[in-house]
Amino acid sequence: MLDSVNNEYDLMNIYKTTALSSDIQTNKYNVWFASRTAEVYDLTIRVLMLERYFDDMMLDKKSIMAKYTKMPFNDFSDDTNNGTDSLSLMGQHYRFEISTNIQNDYDGYNDQSEKLIVINKSVINNDNVILHEMLHAHEQILLSINHIVRDALILELYKKLKNQVKNLDAIIDFHANINHNIRLSELGGEHSLLFLLKSLEIDLRCNNELFTVFGYDYNRNFKELNLI
Ligand SMILES: [Zn+2]
Repeated sequence: MLDSVNNEYDLMNIYKTTALSSDIQTNKYNVWFASRTAEVYDLTIRVLMLERYFDDMMLDKKSIMAKYTKMPFNDFSDDTNNGTDSLSLMGQHYRFEISTNIQNDYDGYNDQSEKLIVINKSVINNDNVILHEMLHAHEQILLSINHIVRDALILELYKKLKNQVKNLDAIIDFHANINHNIRLSELGGEHSLLFLLKSLEIDLRCNNELFTVFGYDYNRNFKELNLI
């Protein structure tokens, strides 16, 4: 888009368009918030309760990301300027819906451009499905800060998981295999290395079997490969 900027007037137009689209998102959020059904209200409360598992992605100062929030002259996540609330799904104006009619009968999906998470009604009581979709959203929020925050989190999660998940390196090799990952993307969208590591970290915190949050039969596959 910036290639088309020739003068100050063009730049102002882009600014206005962006500001307008953010206004549209905020309005959509406000309308959604005020008109939630009891079912969606309950889903919103569940999402709020599950947000604690994303403390690192929200740059909480008690999380493994704390050291990266410190700056030489001030502290990005001090008490008055904590990233946690503004980087939460509610703080980012994400909306949640329940559907009985999701394409291919998937458990859920994210519409990133709409900041919308949709959960299949048949699995609405499954926190792991909700966590999976929340993780997709949190990854987008993190990338909107900048890519080095994402890279730093990959590094920290790897260090944390290295002693807790046997064969972690072999699991990463399998997941990051280019042909495999292209096929997986065609099936269910992008699942990055960050997504893999963070989903495993959530599994451990929730006392889940590994790959419960990740899904896609990874638990069975890795058991068959004797890697877990
Ligand atoms: Zn997914």
